[in-house]
Amino acid sequence: QIGSYGDRECVRVYLVGGLVRDLLLGIPNVDLDVVVEGDGLSFARVLAETFRAKISLHEKFSTATLYLPDGLKVDVATARTEYYEFPAALPVVETGSLKQDLYRRDFTINAMAVGLNQDTRGHLVDFFCGKSDLEQGIIKVLYNLSFVEDPTRIMRGIRFVHRYGFRMEPETKKFALQALEQGLMEKVSFSRLKEEFMLILHEENFALILENLKEMGLWERIFPEWTISEEVIKLLKEIPPTWSWVKEYLAPLDLNLVILLVLCHHCSEMQIRTLNEKFSWSKLYRSALEKISWNKERIFQELATNSLSPSGVFSLIGDLPAEAIVYLILVSDCRQRKVIRNYLEAKKNLFMHISGEDLKCLGVKPGPRMKQLLDRVRKERLDGNLISRADEMTYVKA
Ligand code: ATP
Repeated sequence: QIGSYGDRECVRVYLVGGLVRDLLLGIPNVDLDVVVEGDGLSFARVLAETFRAKISLHEKFSTATLYLPDGLKVDVATARTEYYEFPAALPVVETGSLKQDLYRRDFTINAMAVGLNQDTRGHLVDFFCGKSDLEQGIIKVLYNLSFVEDPTRIMRGIRFVHRYGFRMEPETKKFALQALEQGLMEKVSFSRLKEEFMLILHEENFALILENLKEMGLWERIFPEWTISEEVIKLLKEIPPTWSWVKEYLAPLDLNLVILLVLCHHCSEMQIRTLNEKFSWSKLYRSALEKISWNKERIFQELATNSLSPSGVFSLIGDLPAEAIVYLILVSDCRQRKVIRNYLEAKKNLFMHISGEDLKCLGVKPGPRMKQLLDRVRKERLDGNLISRADEMTYVKA
């Protein structure tokens, strides 16, 4: 349909970017990126009106995002060419042809287009042999200075390598290492680095990507607080198998936070504070990172020295966010892990008969005292000392 409107408005319209790549690979992708040879912003306005879509315009880059009522998102851009005034700067943008638009892209596999106008509908436009690279599983830049202009492409490239099981073409790898050696990554703004980093965390093979970037010497350059040791890499690789059983006890869980806790495994309290400042994490993230950093030594000592009852473990880690408990499981030895698992099992099967309402009837006001009483009943239940509602009521009355 978009193509028909292109015909009506006399502009050439193309599907571009990741969707074309994934279409050729037969992988689902719902990110619709459209490039218009002509005035992309006017065309986006026509589409917004026709499809009753909400529109957000980014005039500086001649792009617009449409949010369709059925939830679909379409990015519409004017075909453009870009140049960089200095390495790692944001690009200066000028209107251009489709070929120029594709040439400014990161890798050949992402630089293909499919025609949408009636006369070209479904035709692949492939100026830079993207299809052949896709078939051979190669990640290749379009020009030698690609990483000099935008070093974050190195992170993108390694992300695609491990997402698709591809390899980086040797020259491209050489360019990447040269750009890193020249210290260009350090020139990129922190917000862009953070954005690329967060995208890595969403990948299924995040551990391999982080390891690969470690081998290339990236982390020391951009996030010096993190020591990505062999131990950390091993822990990262253990996240998916641990995840598969632990989510039975601790859902919902935020995988990103678990990964961050592991990345901060060797961090001092000071370094955690610095990272919290730099990244401006949410309150939940900050609190989980700080709590673990301040308490992990004590928790491990107690888990190691005592044969803790489930209620003892509850006192120790019951207040921690679920993600912090996953981190503790990851770094525990077999014995400590068993203690935590027993606690989780007991907690999972725990059903409290009494509630805050019952305590209110006994004259306890909502507040810390009520929480304390409920926690005490919970601990007794965890250890199997209270069985029935009558037991619980007798206990709180006493
Ligand atoms: P993903 O599946 O991770 O979303 P994608 O290729 O769709 O991958 P986007 O970030 O949505 O990635 O970008 C869309 C397209 O824009 C890419 O396919 C690529 O052509 C181009 N692009 C994105 N980032 C860059 C960059 N840093 N430099 C050059 N081109 C880029």
